Parts: sequence; structure tokens; C-alpha cells
Amino acid sequence: MIPPEFEYVAPNTLDEALQALRTNEDAKILAGGHSLLPLMKLRMAAPATLVDIRKVPGLRGVQRENGQWKIGALTRHADLQGNADLGPLGKAAALIADQQVRNRGTIGGALVHGDPASDLPTVLVVCEGTVTVAGDGGTREIAAGDLFEDYLTTSVGEGEVLTEVRVPDFDGWGSSYLKFTRRAEDWAMVAVCALVKRAGDGSFEDVRIGLTNMGSTPLRATAAEDALRGKGADAIAAAAEQAAEGTDPPGDLNASPDYKRHLTRVLTRRALEEAAA
Ligand SMILES: Cc1cc2nc3c(=O)[nH]c(=O)nc-3n(C[C@H](O)[C@H](O)[C@H](O)COP(=O)(O)OP(=O)(O)OC[C@H]3O[C@@H](n4cnc5c(N)ncnc54)[C@H](O)[C@@H]3O)c2cc1C
Repeated sequence: MIPPEFEYVAPNTLDEALQALRTNEDAKILAGGHSLLPLMKLRMAAPATLVDIRKVPGLRGVQRENGQWKIGALTRHADLQGNADLGPLGKAAALIADQQVRNRGTIGGALVHGDPASDLPTVLVVCEGTVTVAGDGGTREIAAGDLFEDYLTTSVGEGEVLTEVRVPDFDGWGSSYLKFTRRAEDWAMVAVCALVKRAGDGSFEDVRIGLTNMGSTPLRATAAEDALRGKGADAIAAAAEQAAEGTDPPGDLNASPDYKRHLTRVLTRRALEEAAA
């Protein structure tokens, strides 16, 4: 449980952080440390230098602007949990691990780490949000759909810092994030995020469903979304039956692929019912 030796720098500005990433070979950003440090202690990661960005100003906080939420990369899960204005983001953040982890872990770290069993990546994909990353050439935006490339792999480059997350405000939508775990506070065996918008006649004008831990990246259950769009609440059960279509989840110690697909169908039905209500 002792990590390999490493150098440590704690820059005071974003420019200094980018410079530290550029000049130190094999450097890694340290944010909340709740994914990176366990990997180092298990000797599955051995960066030569940790660039601790926690002193960089302007990277923490939640602001509403022009119909969007702007969330700084260093905003902690505890800052998001239970915030009803943030819809599925506030609900999912409240289900991450325990309060100690939520007090340290950051949204930027959770997204760049790119673990398909993580909760916030799925929410970002369902919200069709974007992230801003800063690098030597300036800043660029990455859409959620282009961020998660594979297991623990995102399109954020080695020398880049994720600075901000943006999600639409979703006023007038219903949302739900349901997570199935073997023990309370565990990682998701499977989790489902649902976001629905209903028309005046009660039918579903728009439906979005995201799946956690059903593949190497967060997934959208597009067959179930298409099956419910334009229909009423009586179509939820049949649509949810299609939620695992096209998925090929790996089995693990907790669940076989078939059991995960079963959980997906059940959780999707419940999440849609909750979001619709
Ligand atoms: C016991 C335990 C249980 C957990 N359970 C859950 C759970 O149920 N659900 C869940 O979603 N998560 C869970 N987590 C993970 C937790 O949410 C982490 O905090 C999160 O995944 C990573 O955020 P961090 O700020 O700690 O990142 P760090 O560990 O500091 O960094 C993670 C990675 O992201 C990079 N990085 C961090 N910030 C940036 C940035 N701004 N720009 C570019 N790269 C960056 C780092 O270099 C590193 O590669 C758990 C963690 C622990 C220890």
C-alpha cells in the first residue's frame, strides 16, 4: 500500500500547471486523488511527477449561465450531491461511494479517469454535455459523446487540463439515476440514468437513457429511447425490455453478463417511471 517514489509540484496558476505537465516527463495531474492514489498504491500506476492542481484558482464552483450549468473541474461530488437544480447530476453524485470519498473526489477527475463503472460519466453522456480542456495550443471543447474512448481512456491529452464541465439546465425535464450495488456505497454493478421531457398530452417528447458499467464506456440505450419517444407512460415497460439491446457487458465477480442485462431492463423501467413521475 506504499506508492512508488514521485516528485510533487503544486502550481498556483493554470499556466504553471500546463508548464509543469510539459516540462516533467511522465507527469500526471492530481485532483481529489481518489482514483489515482489507489492505483499508485497498488503499483498499477507510477507517474514520475504529480502536478497537484488544487491551488489553481477558478476551477471550483457551480454557476448557471444562458440555460447551462458551468461546473469547475475541481468541484467535488459533495458540492453536487442532492442539488435538485442539477437534475441527474445531483442525484448521481449523491450515490457515489461514501461521504469521505464525495468530500475529496472531483467531477474533472471522475470524467478524465474514464471508468465505465463511474457514475458521472454516464450522466454527462445522457445530458449531452461538454467539457473544456486547456493545453499548450489554447482551449478546446469536447462533446460527451467524443470524450470516452475506451476503458479508462478518454480523449483528454497527456498535457491537457480539464477545466470546466457544461450541461444544459433541463428545466421542465424529469430525471432519475438508479444504481444497483451489492453493498451500499459500492461501485455500480449496473446503473441507469433516465431523462425525459413530456409534451402537453403526456406523451414523451424526448427520452434519454444512459447505462453505467455495461461496456468499456458509458452507453446510451438508443433502442429503448426510440421505442418510448412519442408514446405515453403505458409504453415504459415494453421500451425498458429493449434497454440492454446491443450491449456486451463483461462478467465480473458480482454479476454475469446475463444478470447485468436483466438488471439493466429492470432499472430502466424503474428509472423511467421515476423520471416520468
Ligand atoms: C473507496 C472508493 C469508492 C469509490 N466509489 C465510487 C463510486 O461508487 N462511483 C464513482 O463514480 N466513483 C467512485 N470512486 C471514485 C471517485 O469518484 C474518484 O474521486 C473519481 O473517480 C476521481 O476523481 P479525483 O478527483 O479523485 O481524481 P484523481 O484520482 O485525482 O485523478 C484521476 C485521474 O484523472 C486525472 N485528472 C484529474 N483531474 C484532472 C483534470 N482536471 N484534468 C485532467 N486530468 C485530470 C488524473 O491525472 C488521473 O489520471 C470511488 C473511489 C474510492 C476511493
